[in-house]
Amino acid sequence: MSITRNELLGKKVYNPDATLVGEVSDIGFSVGASQPTVIIKGADGSTMELPWDSVSSAKDIVLLKENVDSSKFRRAAASAAAPQVQAQTQTMGPPTPGQKKFCTGCGKQLRWIEQYKRWYCDSEKRYV
Ligand SMILES: [Zn+2]
Repeated sequence: MSITRNELLGKKVYNPDATLVGEVSDIGFSVGASQPTVIIKGADGSTMELPWDSVSSAKDIVLLKENVDSSKFRRAAASAAAPQVQAQTQTMGPPTPGQKKFCTGCGKQLRWIEQYKRWYCDSEKRYV
């Protein structure tokens, strides 16, 4: 059985009990490894890597030999994704009521300009 990388990408990956694990997002090769790994993207955007050995068959779908506990890697993905979202709202997001932000250049308090979704420094007359 031979199948190309392009044929695998985007294919749905199922456990032997017919529950959906996710879809193939890429095939990985590591130096020294005898077999490639299948990189699977879960429905929530989390990814997991399985050795090619765990694939039972791959045609219209990819069927695994053993059940994969997808809830296990779902939790890992949630905790990994959280800090990224937090950092984004701190720098870019609109202010929450009572939030104060100070200019990194002059230290004066910044003003949120809703129209441009940007922080504005009144003393330097510039967006930061
Ligand atoms: Zn300033």
